[in-house]
Amino acid sequence: MADSSRSTGSPVVHGFPHLETVRSAITALYRRLSYDGVRGYATSLAPVDAAFGDQDDLYLGSQRVARAVVRHLHLPDARMIVGFRAMEHAAGVELTAGPEYFVELNDRFRTHRRDIGAALSHEVTHVLLHRLGLEFPGTRDNEILTDTVTTYLGAGWLLLDAFREDRVSSQKLGYLTPEEFGYVLAKRAFVFDEDPSPWFTSPQAYEAYTEGRAQALQDTRQPPLTAAGWAGRRRYAKDRRRAQDRPGTPADPGVPYAFEGGPDGLRVSFACPVCHQRIRVPVRGRVRARCGLCRTVLDCST
Ligand SMILES: [Zn+2]
Ligand SMILES: [Zn+2]
Repeated sequence: MADSSRSTGSPVVHGFPHLETVRSAITALYRRLSYDGVRGYATSLAPVDAAFGDQDDLYLGSQRVARAVVRHLHLPDARMIVGFRAMEHAAGVELTAGPEYFVELNDRFRTHRRDIGAALSHEVTHVLLHRLGLEFPGTRDNEILTDTVTTYLGAGWLLLDAFREDRVSSQKLGYLTPEEFGYVLAKRAFVFDEDPSPWFTSPQAYEAYTEGRAQALQDTRQPPLTAAGWAGRRRYAKDRRRAQDRPGTPADPGVPYAFEGGPDGLRVSFACPVCHQRIRVPVRGRVRARCGLCRTVLDCST
C-alpha cells in the first residue's frame, strides 16, 4: 500500500469531487461495524497523543504515536514497526496477517515530525480495514475509503490539519480534498456531539473544515426532511404532484429523493443524512422514520 502526498509545486485540489464515494464509505463502515461498533469510537484521538516535537527522538517518538493510533483504532495486538526511507510516496504499510506491520514513512518526515501522526493514522487505518475485510475496488476508491474511515473514527482530523499553504508552498496528505476531510469530520462531529475546531493548528485546515461543515449541514436540510428549506420543499411538492398524477415518471436525477408507487400508495426514498443508507417512507404528511442502520430518528414532511 503506497500513499501519495502533495508538497510544494502541484496545486491542491479543492471542493467535493469524491463526495459520492465518501458517502458510500460511511455507509459501508456502518454496515461492517454496526451502530454499536461505530459508537465505540465516540472519543477522537487526543492532540496530545499525536504530538511530536522536533526534540523528540525520531524512532521512539514514531513508535509512541503509532501505539496511540493503534490503541485508538481498537487494534490491541497490532504492532507497528516504523521506518524511514527515501521514497516517492508519503508512506506505505505492508498488509500481512500481523501482528507486526511494517510502516514506511518518507524521509522528509524526519524533518516534518509534527505530521507523522497524520501519516500514521492513515496507514494504521489500512491495517484496520484489512483486518475487517472491508475494501473498495480500485486504488482510488479504496484510498477514499481509508481517509473517510480514518476521519469518521476520530483520527483523521490530523490528516486535515496537515494541510498547510503559504505563498510559496503547499502541503497536503491523503486523497480527500481538504473540504472533504472537513465534511467527514463535521458528520462525525454531529453524531458524537464533538467540536474539533480547537484542535486545528493550520488556518487553511480550519477554513476547509467550515466549508465541509456547511456541506454536511446541507445533507440534513434536504426534502423530505422537515428541516428542508422553502425552495426545496416547493420543488418537492411539485415532484410529488407529478408522481401522483403520472406514476412511473422517472425522477429528475438532480433531486435527492425518488417516488415509488406501490399497492399501498406512494412512497418516497432518500438517503439517510447521517449514514447515507437508502430509506423508504410512505407519502402521508408528517412521518417519523428511524434509519435501520445508524438508528437516527428522522422527521419527514412527505
Ligand atoms: Zn493509503
Ligand atoms: Zn442512517
